[in-house]
Amino acid sequence: METRNKIALITGGSRGLGKNMALAIAKKGIDVVITYHANKEAADEVVEQILTMGQNAIAFQLDTSNMKSFDSFVSEMATHLEKENNSPNIDYLINNAGTALYAPVTDTTEEQMDAVFNIHYKGVFFLTQKLLPFINDGGGIVNISSGLTRLVMPGSAVYGSLKSAVETLSRYLAKELGSRRIRVNVIAPGAIATDFGGGRVRDNKEFNDQVANITALGRVGLPDDIGGVVAFLCTAESFWINAQRIEVSGGQAI
Ligand code: NDP
Repeated sequence: METRNKIALITGGSRGLGKNMALAIAKKGIDVVITYHANKEAADEVVEQILTMGQNAIAFQLDTSNMKSFDSFVSEMATHLEKENNSPNIDYLINNAGTALYAPVTDTTEEQMDAVFNIHYKGVFFLTQKLLPFINDGGGIVNISSGLTRLVMPGSAVYGSLKSAVETLSRYLAKELGSRRIRVNVIAPGAIATDFGGGRVRDNKEFNDQVANITALGRVGLPDDIGGVVAFLCTAESFWINAQRIEVSGGQAI
C-alpha cells in the first residue's frame, strides 16, 4: 500500500496566486515544492508556513523564462526528493509563474513579445517536457491561463494570445498523457488583486471598480478565490476532470 504523501510543484509559489495555491494544496495533506524567481525571503516564508502545517516543503530558485536552466533545476529537485522520499518524482505540476505585459498592438516591441512568449508559453512547454519523466502516473498538471483568452481588454493582445496557446497545449498534453492517467487542466482566473502588473487590479481604484462592475459577484478576485480550486484538481475527487478550461472569475464579463 502506498503511504508516501503526494507532492505538488508550483512555479512562482512565493507570492500571489502561487503562494495561495501552495498553502491550499498543503492543507489537502500534499507536500509542496515551490519555485521563486527573485524573492527568496518570501519563498522561505511560504515554506515555513507549510512546515508549520505539518507538510514537507522546499523552495528552489528558477527563472521559468530561461530554458537553459531547466536541466539543472530538475536534477537539483529530483536529487532532493530522492534523498527525502526514495523517489525523485512529483505527482502534480502547477505551471503558474508569470509576469504581465500591458501594451497596445501599435506599441508592442519584438523584445516584449519574446519575453511574454518565453515565460508564458515556451517555458511552460519545456519545463513540462523536462518534468514529464518525474511525474508519477495518475498525477496531474494544472496550467494557469487567464480570463483574457475569452474576454478582450485593450493592451493584452500578446499576453492573451499566448495564454490561449497554453490552453491549446493543455488539451494536447491531456491527449498524449492519458495513457499514463495524467490529467491536464487549465484554471483561468479573472482579474485578481495581487502584485501582478504592478498591482494594477489591487491598487488602481479605477480599474478595480471597472472590473467589479462587470463581475456578476460584484468585486475583483482575491488569491483565496483561486488556490482552493487548484488544490481540488490535485485530489482523487477531481480525477474525471480532464482537458478542461475552468474559469474562476466570479462571472466576469458574462
Ligand atoms: P504575482 O506577480 O503576484 O506573482 C508572480 C509569481 O511568479 C511570483 O512568485 C514570482 O516570483 C514568479 N515569477 C515572476 N517572474 C518569474 C520568472 N521569470 N521565472 C519564475 N518565476 C517568476 O502574479 P500572480 O500571482 O497574480 O500571477 C500568477 C499567474 O496567474 C500568472 O501566470 C498570471 O499570468 C496568472 N493570472 C493572474 C491574474 C491576476 O489578475 N493576478 C489573472 C489571470 C491570470 P518572485 O516572488 O521571486 O518574483
